[in-house]
Amino acid sequence: MDEDILNKYKKAGKILSEAREFGASLIKPGVKIIDVVEKVEERIKKLGGEFAFPVNVSINQNAAHDTADVNDVRVFNDGDIIKLDIGVHVDGYIADSARTISLNSGREDLIKASEKALSEALKMMRPGNYIRDVSDVIERTIREMGFNPVMNLTGHGIERYKLHAGIEIPNVRTNIGYQLKEGDVFAIEPFSTDGGGKVIETDKVFIYMYLADKPVRFPESRKILSVAREEFHKLPFTKRWLIKKIPTLTPLKLNLILRQLVQNGSLHDYPVLREVNNGFVAQTEHTVVVRDNPIITTL
Ligand code: MN
Ligand code: MN
Repeated sequence: MDEDILNKYKKAGKILSEAREFGASLIKPGVKIIDVVEKVEERIKKLGGEFAFPVNVSINQNAAHDTADVNDVRVFNDGDIIKLDIGVHVDGYIADSARTISLNSGREDLIKASEKALSEALKMMRPGNYIRDVSDVIERTIREMGFNPVMNLTGHGIERYKLHAGIEIPNVRTNIGYQLKEGDVFAIEPFSTDGGGKVIETDKVFIYMYLADKPVRFPESRKILSVAREEFHKLPFTKRWLIKKIPTLTPLKLNLILRQLVQNGSLHDYPVLREVNNGFVAQTEHTVVVRDNPIITTL
């Protein structure tokens, strides 16, 4: 990998880790989710980063893809476990990292299972190793601690402006024959749960991604697609950002338009994901550059 590109990956990672730890320090019972999300996003911008996706805050049985809605009134509560998942890019070079915060939840072991699975997996991100063996370590580590890995959420390859670039790193053993090579970039994200080990989609959607320009009815629809393409670089975005960019939109009209754009294939939607048996879910994630000494950009 070119030194210049590596430095951009490192810069994105450094901005991310500072924003992540700042965000974690803000999460307290009674604090509004939207306040934390907006402060973290503000910090990322101030540090010179751009968003690879909206700051995700997924609580308890929700595993992923939750973020603050427009005018969101929800607060953090005593007893919650909170997945704070952040994506930053610098010139398209992406860092993706998450940690789980416990507010007196008594679920430290569940969190530790995903943390330990991640640290064991990261050690294996060397040229020549097979993805199936990385997955095997993740699954075994989580099961040894008495929990289940979430089988249908995976780590993923990262390329410039591509958050999910083809190759996946499942959290359970598979037959994936891909052999890691120097310079590959991956996000690894073990999810542990005391539930059934699977997530399902809910009917809540806050996050979308550009797919294609299709014929649309409203001028605002065209504007949303051009913003998603040009300003968000076809990376995932959220409703809060659109309301700020397009002043003529009301939340009601925005929801109507987004539904149409998903239906006609212009946008992909990312519903909030929930554990199938309503188990609690923990997640820990880092981005790593494959090397003999793997470079973890988001430490
Ligand atoms: Mn993530
Ligand atoms: Mn990820």
